[in-house]
Amino acid sequence: MKRLLLFTFALSLFVIHANAQYTQDLITTPEKTQYTQTSMYADVVDFIKTVEANSDLVHVESMGKSLEGKDIPVVVMADPKVSSPKEAKVSGKPVMYIQGNIHSGEVEGKEVLQVMMREILFGDKKHLLDNQIIIFAPIYNTDSNDKLDVEVRRSQEGSPEKTGVRANSQGWDLNRDGIKMETLETNALVTNILMKWDPEILVDLHTTNGTWHGYSLTWAPSYHTSGEKGPYDMTWDKLLPEVTKNVEEKYDVFIGPYGYQNLRDGWPVTAIYTYNHHPRYIVNQMGLRNKIGILSEAFAHERLYQRMNSTHAFVTEILEFTNKHGKEIAAVNDKAERDAINLVKTQAGKVKKGVRFEMVYLEDIPNYRSYEYIPYIETDSSTGYLSAEDMGYASGSDVKLVRGQKIVTLHGIKNYSGFKATVESTLPRGYLIPAELSYIAEHLEKQGAVVKKLTKTVHATGEAFEVTEFNKSRRQFEKHNMVSVEGEYAPVSKTFEAGDYWVDLAQPLANLIFYTLEPQSDDGLVVWNFFDEYFEENGIDNGSVEYPVFKYFELK
Ligand SMILES: [Zn+2]
Repeated sequence: MKRLLLFTFALSLFVIHANAQYTQDLITTPEKTQYTQTSMYADVVDFIKTVEANSDLVHVESMGKSLEGKDIPVVVMADPKVSSPKEAKVSGKPVMYIQGNIHSGEVEGKEVLQVMMREILFGDKKHLLDNQIIIFAPIYNTDSNDKLDVEVRRSQEGSPEKTGVRANSQGWDLNRDGIKMETLETNALVTNILMKWDPEILVDLHTTNGTWHGYSLTWAPSYHTSGEKGPYDMTWDKLLPEVTKNVEEKYDVFIGPYGYQNLRDGWPVTAIYTYNHHPRYIVNQMGLRNKIGILSEAFAHERLYQRMNSTHAFVTEILEFTNKHGKEIAAVNDKAERDAINLVKTQAGKVKKGVRFEMVYLEDIPNYRSYEYIPYIETDSSTGYLSAEDMGYASGSDVKLVRGQKIVTLHGIKNYSGFKATVESTLPRGYLIPAELSYIAEHLEKQGAVVKKLTKTVHATGEAFEVTEFNKSRRQFEKHNMVSVEGEYAPVSKTFEAGDYWVDLAQPLANLIFYTLEPQSDDGLVVWNFFDEYFEENGIDNGSVEYPVFKYFELK
């Protein structure tokens, strides 16, 4: 017995020793600083150089340059190594893409992706390259990472002591830019990752904003709106439940659905509400691109080492899942692409698809974790923030809520993370764009759409949209006064000439193009002011104006 114990002890020493083979330059900044500091841009670049110099399985390239001229590093890991998208295709292995630091104040994704490079290339996670190619972009928002300050994110309670800022150096939020594509980073991501490497999955790593749910990390899929349902179902029914179960079983970490608790509904809360479905968010756009998107939001109030722990567990288990089911995921995504094209070919002019959506109840969460809230009687009115009526007590009572220390499990919480169309529009066979609106054609091409120039006159039958109401928001959002238009479609025939632009909708990005071009879309080009000048020049102030992009059902 004693000998066996000694042997076990020696074996465990060996195991510990076997894992501790990293050189010092593979230890990240937070690990070196008791988790008080986060990696600077130069630290990440140095880390990647070390990895590149010491592994045969790595290809490094730049996604593009930021305004300050910093390359956004992209690390492609494959066994055997691949150095181009063509080699990736030839290998037959699906590509999985994960990015950190889209918001530079939310740092754990950036740190965890470095840790995971170390483990995949030199540690115990090499098997994750058995059936897939893994691409990491640990520091997507390069410039803003180094603009360090204290309390950039109050909810993180000084862990790490300082972080970078949210917006990129052009002043835009990179996670609201998916449709308008004003930032250098979004253009780099779409051109050099999504279109070039064609990943099956995109995982976007964040820190959440402050809700005191009882999870170390919350997640969301690419919300299913006017996209195909297959990739969403794969994420919601299979990937997320299995990953969640494995993270709890293997790491003792609780993760769950993303959502906001409205304490105005009283305590205990009975529902959680997710965020918008809009494809301006890159995760949501993945669904319209017939791919899987996953949002990861570590719990802001935990310390950096805990947020790294939960994000590490989540990313690891996603990659374990995709390593096992990569072929199946690729097949689901391919089918979504074929279905999108087929629907246009067979049902153009017949079916309608949603262009505006509202958040609705989807399902019950049987066991939902939350920090407990405690009612108390208010004697100093400067402290509480909920009125008694807000919490369902009698009017005039002084009862308030304060957050306690305990995490409780609530049952039958309603999850508002479904989306229902409130406005639908007929799916066309394609769109015709007048030559003078060449910038619209160019914008579609930036998104990855195929746009052609007409070489001869065509006669098209379809529907024209008469804009009768042009509403511009007074409040600025992302430097835009957003627009919504109201009006009506009417059947009409039109002639377009050589030099005008032609978008045949029977193409892989059919759903994204539809959402982008439909005038009533709640996140299309109309919303982002692409047509303001056109409408104003054509007299929208004095009467109705026809939307200049024509949707056709038949072309002759
Ligand atoms: Zn974020």
